[in-house]
Amino acid sequence: MEDCIFCKIINGDFGTEFVLENEYAVVFNDINPKAPVHMLVVPRVHAASLNEVEDKNLLGELMMTVKQAAAKAGLKSYKTLINTGKEAGQEVFHLHIHVMGEKK
Ligand code: AMP
Repeated sequence: MEDCIFCKIINGDFGTEFVLENEYAVVFNDINPKAPVHMLVVPRVHAASLNEVEDKNLLGELMMTVKQAAAKAGLKSYKTLINTGKEAGQEVFHLHIHVMGEKK
């Protein structure tokens, strides 16, 4: 999507380094981390929020990607968060899953 910052990141417009990437998603570090490790798992297809996604396979693949990213970052314990809607704190309207933790 033209004006979507995460679509631009996925397209490589900013040279953002990916923690990992696969057919379904890319994972990169949050620019304003709220935890020692704070990554975002972002589907390659544009969907404004969780409410716009009906593809169960994609949702499953995103959760698998969360686990892979956590393992790659060395996180055994971590929190996941999906903000859906402005009132819930969503600022970027391209679905993403926050993965936050601390290497111990
Ligand atoms: P949310 O409030 O759930 O929409 O989360 C959006 C997240 O995207 C925030 O934690 C921001 O810090 C993060 N963010 C915004 N722009 C960028 C960017 N260019 N690169 C990495 N993270 C970003």
